[in-house]
Amino acid sequence: MLVIRTTAFRRAAGMRLLLRSHCSSAPFSESSAAAVHAERTIREGPRNDWSRNEIESIHDSPILDLVFHGAQVHRHAHNFRQVQQCTLLSIKTGGCSEDCSYCPQSSRYTTGLKAQKLMTKDAVIEAAEKAKEAGSTRFCMGAAWRDTIGRKTNFNQILEYVKEIRGMGMEVCCTLGMLEQQQAIELKKAGLTAYNHNLDTSREYYPNIITTRSYDERLKTLQFVRDAGINVCSGGIIGLGEAAEDRVGLLHTLATLPTHPESVPINALVAVKGTPLQDQKPVEIWEMIRMIATARIVMPQAMVRLSAGRVRFSMPEQALCFLAGANSIFTGEKLLTTPNNDFDADQLMFKLLGLTPKPPSFGDEANDTLEQCEEAVSSSG
Ligand code: SF4
Repeated sequence: MLVIRTTAFRRAAGMRLLLRSHCSSAPFSESSAAAVHAERTIREGPRNDWSRNEIESIHDSPILDLVFHGAQVHRHAHNFRQVQQCTLLSIKTGGCSEDCSYCPQSSRYTTGLKAQKLMTKDAVIEAAEKAKEAGSTRFCMGAAWRDTIGRKTNFNQILEYVKEIRGMGMEVCCTLGMLEQQQAIELKKAGLTAYNHNLDTSREYYPNIITTRSYDERLKTLQFVRDAGINVCSGGIIGLGEAAEDRVGLLHTLATLPTHPESVPINALVAVKGTPLQDQKPVEIWEMIRMIATARIVMPQAMVRLSAGRVRFSMPEQALCFLAGANSIFTGEKLLTTPNNDFDADQLMFKLLGLTPKPPSFGDEANDTLEQCEEAVSSSG
């Protein structure tokens, strides 16, 4: 079970009083599910036994109440002014064998994207240095692969990149497709902070989006990552044509994992011409805010990342997302292959909203030994 920082809980008593006085002002308002569950989260800390109905009732709460209570939980679990800046680099682009319907990197769709081999060490390190200079504290490397099995040379190269970037004092994340247990251990040994593997959507809607690998295979990779002692980064995409209940289903799966993901990216589809989802209607800001605030209430300690699609949202719209509980963004010109927000506009936004970059956090990973990793894996069965 995760534990919210002690200092946060010391402040919880005061907040409970505030919430009670809010709730007891019955002539003006009734308690929404967001209020009830946010109060419980503040009182009891993270839980992994959420029912789907509970999450649905939070998600469907009146929007302003949802934002208010997402903000309350956020302020208890985090320094609400700090926003993590991550840079995502595509180190191997396109030519992917998978059929993810939203993805221009799939070789099954004609999107005009030029496939590129794994980038050289010099090019990757140069990009990491640039990201660090621009204020990023986490550097994420993405490779368009189904998995890393049978790619020993490339995988060993990536281990080198991880070591080098971690040595620069940055958190390092990878997203390389499905992993085997041993590979997760090797990434951990190299100093990897987090591994991203999104569930994308609910288990029920998933076969409409991807047919070349199963939901359970994805969960298995998350298990290997967790067992190796690497932080799990896992979230999803909205705007794929799913229903509200699928968004709830995605959050339910994430919030009932044995440990909540350390990071939960919430992406709005960026519809790319040539993909099967090219004509999807853009996601509205209110849909993003509902997802962010609900994720914040049900996974209070997670870094909730306002991810793909941010480029379409104005500064006031993004401000509402931060208020509702988002505390992480991707910075840099591109998100893998799609455009991202302008660097100067992000700097200005941080200044205007009084946000500060979150410093890197390495937890106690320096104390971790290979033996501890392997012990964790073997005891997981
Ligand atoms: S999302 Fe990843 S696995 Fe799916 S097609 Fe794109 S690059 Fe391949």
